[in-house]
Amino acid sequence: MSIATTIPHWIGGTRTSGVSTRTSPVWNPATGERQADVLLAEPSDVDAAVAAATAAFESWGESSISTRVKVLFAFREIVNRRAGELAALVTDEHGKVLSDAAGEVQRGLEVVEFACSIPTLSKGAYSDQVSTDIDSFTFRQPLGVCAGITPFNFPAMVPMWMFPIAIATGNTFVLKPSERDPSAAMLLAEMWAEAGLPDGVFNVVHGDKVAVDAILDHPDIAAVSFVGSTPIARYVHGRGTANGKRVQALGGAKNHAIVLPDADMEFAAHHLAAAAFGSAGERCMAISAALAVGSAGDHLMELLDAQARAVKVGPGRDAASEMGPIVTPESRDRIVGLIDSGAAQGAQVRVDGRGLVVPGHENGFFVGPTVLDHVTTEMDVYTNEIFGPVLSVLRPGDVDEAIDLINANPYGNGTAVFTNSGGAARRFVRGVKVGMVGVNVPVPVPMAYHSFGGWKDSLFGEHHMHGPEGVEFYTRAKVVTQRWPESGTPSGASLDMPTAR
Ligand code: NAD
Repeated sequence: MSIATTIPHWIGGTRTSGVSTRTSPVWNPATGERQADVLLAEPSDVDAAVAAATAAFESWGESSISTRVKVLFAFREIVNRRAGELAALVTDEHGKVLSDAAGEVQRGLEVVEFACSIPTLSKGAYSDQVSTDIDSFTFRQPLGVCAGITPFNFPAMVPMWMFPIAIATGNTFVLKPSERDPSAAMLLAEMWAEAGLPDGVFNVVHGDKVAVDAILDHPDIAAVSFVGSTPIARYVHGRGTANGKRVQALGGAKNHAIVLPDADMEFAAHHLAAAAFGSAGERCMAISAALAVGSAGDHLMELLDAQARAVKVGPGRDAASEMGPIVTPESRDRIVGLIDSGAAQGAQVRVDGRGLVVPGHENGFFVGPTVLDHVTTEMDVYTNEIFGPVLSVLRPGDVDEAIDLINANPYGNGTAVFTNSGGAARRFVRGVKVGMVGVNVPVPVPMAYHSFGGWKDSLFGEHHMHGPEGVEFYTRAKVVTQRWPESGTPSGASLDMPTAR
């Protein structure tokens, strides 16, 4: 099998086809060309990656903090130096515009920088003299082999939410990236090798459900981090935890932004359009539902229409493009089908992105920005996560109705309020059942040193990703109680429950 056009796995520090023969197409969404195929792993390919990671854990898990930090700093420098290359790979396979891909790389890099502070982050706690001549301390140890299963929409950033912290804390890692845009993971593997990470500490296995199931059932994998759609997140969490693994599984989203009548409407419309149409709406933090409260509605709609029509749609490599194509023809058709259903079910299509043709890129998978007004909670465009450049507008009568509507939604990833009232914002922040909340900030993605995670059907498991919760997820605590009696000291041993003296 040729590996010039077939993307192989990365196991034990080298590219390999293993026993894989099945493949999946990798498109260039801007041109519609099938630019490569990616191998799909069989269970024995997963076994080979886990064996490499298990062997590497023996020494990496024992390596000093300063050894790990040196590799992390080197990796940070390489990602920083080659960020443009990484962003271009993302653009060519995902479709998002280069400036947006560069932003994704930057947000991933920030997690690497956070992980560089692992000496401080991994300091334990020490209590002197918890009982007479007894001291106690807590410290955390790595879990072993950890796996990451990631979605297509952030092929660089989402894996980088996971592995820098897993590796910094002494674990080894097997990444199963999305089969739709697999090349960023391969470049990251090369960068780790260049940084001096020992072979087998970071491995990449490409694949579909076969590979995912092999990961979830593998007895030598201690923990699984997953990001993707809600049905798969629920499945991964259920099967992984049933097999005794630690699992964090982040799912899909339906993110609402409330616009109150006292908001700066120009400001809100600009930010709503950016949050709905950036990355063609293929972000788990995209705003897909705008709640125009009371009298905010008509003025906001006029401004939103103008914003949506002004978005420059084109190939991601063109610096003039603000929004690129959709990742695959299947995704494009699904999005267009949902817009059709919205129109059929009574939504008003104010701006229609169906049938958009980009000159010179007639075969690209484009859908233009779309604005649907008077959407109701029963419509398919509301109940489904569209994951495309479609903004649905609902019109609740007041702020309480708007908050109730958000809280009744099964997802709870991100949300935002646009207002000039501190009191209304505070009521919203405290009352809304969503994990990440913005106040006049529509895409409130937490920085690397906070943790990222939603509520309800947007996250299964206890731990959010990266930040302090990431460090906790990839380590387990040990508490030591010790004394060093002088010879001849009376033992004072008793059959009673030990209590402090
Ligand atoms: P997806 O669920 O289709 O795929 C995610 C991963 O699961 C991929 O690696 C894929 O190969 C694997 N997978 C797909 N089908 C599977 C199956 N039947 N069994 C086992 N594994 C399977 O998601 P996607 O389309 O790649 O990404 C978009 C989704 O991810 C959206 O729902 C989006 O909201 C969500 N997402 C969530 C977050 C978050 O932080 N909550 C971040 C990014 C994306």
